[in-house]
Amino acid sequence: MKFNFKEEQLIIKPHKSQQSIYVREQKGVYQNYRRLLSWLLMITFIIIPFLQYQGQQAVLFDIGKQQFRIFAFTFWPQDFVLLAGILMLAAFALFFVTTWLGRVWCGYVCPQTIWTLAYVWVEHRIEGKRNQRIALDKSPWSLHKLQKKSLKHCIWLLMSFLTATTFISYFIPVQSLYLDLLSFNWTALITFWVLFFTLCTYGNAGWLREKVCIDMCPYARFQSAMFDKNTLLVAYDAQRGENRGARKLKDDSQQLKQEQGLGDCVDCNLCVEVCPTGIDIRNGMQYECINCALCIDACDETMTRFNYAKGLISYTSEQALTGETSKGFSFKLAAYASFCLVCSIAMVLWINARIPLEASILRDRNALYSVDYQGIIENTYTLKILNKSQQPLHFSIKVPEIDTTLLKLPKKLLIKSGAMQTVPLTLTADGNSLENKMTNISFIIQAIEQPSILLKRETIFFRD
Ligand code: SF4
Ligand code: SF4
Repeated sequence: MKFNFKEEQLIIKPHKSQQSIYVREQKGVYQNYRRLLSWLLMITFIIIPFLQYQGQQAVLFDIGKQQFRIFAFTFWPQDFVLLAGILMLAAFALFFVTTWLGRVWCGYVCPQTIWTLAYVWVEHRIEGKRNQRIALDKSPWSLHKLQKKSLKHCIWLLMSFLTATTFISYFIPVQSLYLDLLSFNWTALITFWVLFFTLCTYGNAGWLREKVCIDMCPYARFQSAMFDKNTLLVAYDAQRGENRGARKLKDDSQQLKQEQGLGDCVDCNLCVEVCPTGIDIRNGMQYECINCALCIDACDETMTRFNYAKGLISYTSEQALTGETSKGFSFKLAAYASFCLVCSIAMVLWINARIPLEASILRDRNALYSVDYQGIIENTYTLKILNKSQQPLHFSIKVPEIDTTLLKLPKKLLIKSGAMQTVPLTLTADGNSLENKMTNISFIIQAIEQPSILLKRETIFFRD
């Protein structure tokens, strides 16, 4: 069998995710919003681990101690149901926002976008504008190129290191972490995680960039399932823009447009050059588009230069592009909003009803009971109490079903915050005072300082 390909058909072009993208720096209204939001989020990310609440780190996910502290609340592995609630709420919130505003998360809030654009900003400051960067990369290695590249990578690594240490301080108490880091007393654990997250940040924001969004992030793949005709998207108005064609600024544009049958797109290619994922929005909606609006700002700048109306590329919806009015409300949106509301209410109620105390009671397995020479019955138990609150507390233990004069129980028990205490207990009772061979009893454990912290654990008292 003979294949008859022309020579140019045999050239395999790399997919755009394999090509280098040189993002052109762009200023504009949406970029101002995005930068402001990025700064706010970055500053919040940096200062949260340094916040103190009642003398302790306010937000700490202490994996070693299996305690997640968020201001007045400490969560334990037993509170796993809350994590499920948070994940469900996050999922429905994401569905809601994506259906309404498209990939606004990707364009404005996603750490990958924020960090990538911050790294591009550094690159721009050191290596110059887009054309200068392309020329630098094409030029042979020289001392000048080596200096620029070294400086850029050193700053990227420093930013990655600071990001890594900040991230780790959510998991290791910030004071001890920075004391260890600054005194070079790096344990194997700290060294591993600092290196790991430094390399992850450096690799993701410095090298992989848009490849994370295009090839690795699952969100890009399933977003279209959430879109509807009213979802806000970044889109090019082809009716207005086509036929695209270059023209000179000094030309009488309107007359030239009519003569040559041109639309408003002057084919300046700026919308492609500023795009961090390297796509051409004029080709229609693409899954690579992260809704960052860099192309809107670039195109608006061009439109202003040519004295055309802004908005050739804009935030719009499929419905609006066909000339119909976009509906703000849809059943899908209302359903997602209701799920968010239900999840939030359920979580607030659950947190309110949650008691920061855990206890379990175990009977002695060797003997059901013992009887002394006076006929007094003894049953032995092991009580385990976990103080899940953020303060040390005194606990009282009561068994209302047994005559209190016969109880051999500690009057009060001091248990530190986050500590579990095992208490061996012996209950005694006059055998004649109990009607049945097995009596249901309950241990009531109550914090003396905060009586609302109270738990009841049931067990059985045996007699002969
Ligand atoms: S097409 Fe526009 S909005 Fe989409 S990723 Fe590129 S620059 Fe951002
Ligand atoms: S920035 Fe606007 S005018 Fe320039 S090529 Fe893109 S769509 Fe056309």
